[in-house]
Amino acid sequence: MNKSKHYLLPDISQPGKIGCRLPELDVPAVELPPRELLRQELALPEVSETELVRYFTSLSRRNYGVDTGFYPLGSCTMKYNPKWHENIARFPGFQEIHPCQPVDTVPGALQLMYELQELLAEITGMNAASLAPMAGAQGELAGLLMVKAYHRSRGENRRRKILVPDSAHGTNPATATMCGFEVNTIPSNGDGNLDLVSLTRLMNEDIAALTLTMPTTLGLFDPQIAEISNIVHEKGGLLIGDGANLNSLLGKVKFGDLGFDCVQLNLHKTFSTPHGGGGPGAGPVCVKSNLADFLPSPVVSKDKREYQFAKPSASIGRLGAAYGNFGVMVKAYAYIRSLGAEGLKEVSENAVLNANYIKEKLKPYYHLPYDRTCLHEVVFSGNKQKAKGVTTLDIAKRILDYGFHPPTIYFPQVVEEAIMIEPTETESKETLDAFIKAMIEIAGEVDKEPELLHNAPHSTPVRRLDEVNAARKPNLRWKMR
Ligand SMILES: *Cc1c(COP(=O)(O)O)cnc(C)c1O
Repeated sequence: MNKSKHYLLPDISQPGKIGCRLPELDVPAVELPPRELLRQELALPEVSETELVRYFTSLSRRNYGVDTGFYPLGSCTMKYNPKWHENIARFPGFQEIHPCQPVDTVPGALQLMYELQELLAEITGMNAASLAPMAGAQGELAGLLMVKAYHRSRGENRRRKILVPDSAHGTNPATATMCGFEVNTIPSNGDGNLDLVSLTRLMNEDIAALTLTMPTTLGLFDPQIAEISNIVHEKGGLLIGDGANLNSLLGKVKFGDLGFDCVQLNLHKTFSTPHGGGGPGAGPVCVKSNLADFLPSPVVSKDKREYQFAKPSASIGRLGAAYGNFGVMVKAYAYIRSLGAEGLKEVSENAVLNANYIKEKLKPYYHLPYDRTCLHEVVFSGNKQKAKGVTTLDIAKRILDYGFHPPTIYFPQVVEEAIMIEPTETESKETLDAFIKAMIEIAGEVDKEPELLHNAPHSTPVRRLDEVNAARKPNLRWKMR
């Protein structure tokens, strides 16, 4: 933990101190607005330049990120992304182009987008792709709007329901509802797979599609996928994949080969753009031929050696004003090209190996509800510890004292007291071992010193926050004490 002095503006403010010196006025003076219009309560702190710089620098050091430490937040893929790809996205020819400039002045950008569409279609085993969606959830939205347009084009207007497994990522049912579909939930079976009996019972001519997160939100591969695909397709439904967590399947398994008609990817998880922090993202959709005409626009097409923006014949339309988050596309392209087919395979191998390593090392200490080989993440339950009066929240707060970002907790909801750990492919064995050691020590503290956990964290600048109030009533204004 960073123990450096925290500069607090109200403490260092002194009337008359000044952080910058303005040159003498050499233009006509302008009257200030009348006094009654000036806000009296806007008493700004008065500090020197050095103090101001130290204040902001000390604040920035309180930030925790992948560049400062291990960040095993499940379902988020908080992995390290090569800085070199940031440099490439900043090449002037990429960074300084404008969405409104004539398209024939940016053939390189169009070529990159076209080739990225092709690469993503190849990686997912699909026939066509659109880079238009700007987030994973927006890619899901594009997928379900295509499902709707597809059934409509065939006169099948009665298909108004979407099947969603109970282990799905929360965005899946939310997106289906946004599209005006009714959501029917399919339970998981005791192994954490989809319950085929329920699927067979629920699948009929009213169902537009089944949306399936793969790997599931339990970090598992559902080996019944071929059967699932048959059951859905036999009744005329479509199989829609959520491929946000592709770092477990890259170069190994293709969504197209598994029977999916459409899948969205999160470039800002798998392909060299950091996820989290609210930065720009991209959620391209890749589809089989049956959905290609419905893809969101624009897509880039190629005619001989000319690249053009095009609108597919039955397109669901635009998802944003311009062309999507181009810088994110550049980084994804650079990532795929620099790793190559072999490198992408290694990404998956390491992501899966790391998650299984943690699973095996921690399973004597934390309950593992689905004890089978996992993919990119592993979900434990804190119910053994809960029985001793220590909750998963206490454990997550205590991890902060060991200098790690906590895993995802209480999600997926099908696991009680869930602790969802995603180590990602970019961490070394030493880092994983240090985290495992911390988790084992914490398991020991549950027996010996439960108070330590109830009051954690002990070493952070702020302790337990009122998270609900912080979200509902954010206090974002500086006030003189
Ligand atoms: C992260 C994630 C999403 C949502 O992606 P956003 O870009 O945050 O909208 C959807 N599904 C799964 C499985 C995810 O992990």
